[in-house]
Amino acid sequence: MLNVPSQAFPAPGSQQRVASQGRSKVPLKQGRSLMDWIRLTKSGKDLTGLKGRLIEVTEEELKTHNKKDDCWICIRGLVYNVSPYMEYHPGGEEELMRAAGADGTDLFNEVHRWVNYESMLKECLVGRMAVKPAVPKGMLPKSQVTDTLPREGPSSPSYDWFQTESSVTIAIYTKQKNINLDSVIVDLQGGSLRAETFIKDHSYLIHIGLSHEVQENFSVRVIENVGKIDIVLQKRENISWKCLGQPLEKHDSFITKKDTGLFYRRCQLISKEDVTHDTRLFCLMLPPSTHLQVPVGYHVYLKLSVTGAEIVKPYTPVSVSSLSGFREPAPPPNKYIYFLIKIYPDGLFTPELDRLQIGDFVSVSSPEGNFKLSKLQEVEDLFLLAAGTGFTPMVNVLNYALTCMSSLRKVKLMFFNKTEDDIIWRCELEKLAFKDKRFDTEFVLSAPSPEWNGKQGHVSPALLSEFLQRSLENSRVFLCICGPTPFTDEGIRLLHDLNFSNDEIHGFTA
Ligand code: FAD
Ligand code: NAP
Repeated sequence: MLNVPSQAFPAPGSQQRVASQGRSKVPLKQGRSLMDWIRLTKSGKDLTGLKGRLIEVTEEELKTHNKKDDCWICIRGLVYNVSPYMEYHPGGEEELMRAAGADGTDLFNEVHRWVNYESMLKECLVGRMAVKPAVPKGMLPKSQVTDTLPREGPSSPSYDWFQTESSVTIAIYTKQKNINLDSVIVDLQGGSLRAETFIKDHSYLIHIGLSHEVQENFSVRVIENVGKIDIVLQKRENISWKCLGQPLEKHDSFITKKDTGLFYRRCQLISKEDVTHDTRLFCLMLPPSTHLQVPVGYHVYLKLSVTGAEIVKPYTPVSVSSLSGFREPAPPPNKYIYFLIKIYPDGLFTPELDRLQIGDFVSVSSPEGNFKLSKLQEVEDLFLLAAGTGFTPMVNVLNYALTCMSSLRKVKLMFFNKTEDDIIWRCELEKLAFKDKRFDTEFVLSAPSPEWNGKQGHVSPALLSEFLQRSLENSRVFLCICGPTPFTDEGIRLLHDLNFSNDEIHGFTA
């Protein structure tokens, strides 16, 4: 991934020691941090060797640029000369060389599809992949015909529209049950409507330049049992529309989520409050013409320009309204989005975020994640293990458990921090435990003051086996774990040792 600067990475004690899924970051040489890369891209040096010319690249040509000092890679249809970037890549040269002279889109998507390569590598852009001439379907060899047939997956949704004197309704037929208000994200921007519906691991996009003006407020209804979504737009003028509008890019497409780009909308910073000495609660306001709800256990990406380069980092929104006792009065639902964010003084992104003034804007992506609420069905004992800001996904899981899980007998949070001062929402958690007897919380400190008489240390077999007591001998359990990657990895390993199965554990990772 491109967004982590490095000198002797990973430093001991750094929260970023190892990336998820076993992908290690390699130590980078002095002067090869992301900031150094940004500086190089701004130096005016010819990084492609083509003196600013952009060319069309054929597959044959791409294949010939497959050496470390002459390495071209195609990402999402664009070809980059990544040789000058090799030494700055936190994943190391070896990782880049896996895609040398080839299409690296899948490889890059697999690692971090949210990284904005278009911005980071723009000075390395060689050109576009040449489009192959289309072959009439009937003439394709048999093997290729099968490739063009739809793969296994949910059947493709469709849409329709109708109007009254004052409104236009777009109806999306998902052909699926279990669709709800967080399955669809709608953005109205400058006369174009973009509605993305998530169906299992697929995304269905309606993207239209509307033929007439509409008001910025619209409503979204979901008829769950038939899987229909209605987007009701209000006309600016009560005239009859002859057509809905012009199709825009990828309109009416139904593709796997991993093949879609991330879509951002600009949100305004409304407030910023200190929660601990280094963690703040940021409140962002969604544009009035956006419908977006973040599913439990999902995160979004925040995007800011740092010295001219677009930097993107993931953050997990937290609910402040519904976790009763957390915050009064409740803010209007779906208008604001809250984040608990730790500011690292020497970090790349968070100091920039912290410098924003009330009223400034930050771009927020559509949600991503793989947490499955269905796993909580019929769960009786829920155990949450969090370290530092790894607490953030637990907030909404906890809230959901206490308000929606009728089977729940007990939910316990074990919260690991360095010192007492680092504990996020300690008071609120204690109040909640007092108020709701199903909830209990334990704090564990790795660097406590001499006065601390609570639990100490790191995640360990002793701490876990004492904590993970079921309310009934055979109760159905589920465990969530989140924190620095080595903490999460170690925790999952220990849970396996204690005979919990993969089906009973969700580890939040990047
Ligand atoms: P970075 O530049 O990444 O630096 C962070 C720390 O690592 C600093 O102390 C820095 O000195 C050290 N470091 C960086 N590079 C090196 C190096 N080369 N050598 C040694 N040390 C180094 N965070 C939250 O606060 N709230 C959330 O809700 C949240 N949600 C997340 C959700 C997901 C899915 C994931 C994966 C992460 C989440 N994070 C969250 C973490 C967040 O994405 C960022 O990693 C974090 O904010 C740090 O960003 P930064 O750019 O400011 O710091
Ligand atoms: P931190 O304050 O540095 O650490 C919190 C606690 O975890 C401390 O007690 C720390 O002990 C302990 N810890 C650190 N590394 C450990 C390890 N290898 N084994 C056992 N315990 C360990 O944490 P932070 O700065 O808030 O960082 C939180 C992390 O959570 C970040 O890496 C962030 O990316 C991640 N996060 C992920 C998600 C997600 O959804 N995937 C969401 C939010 C946050 P020490 O005193 O020994 O350091």
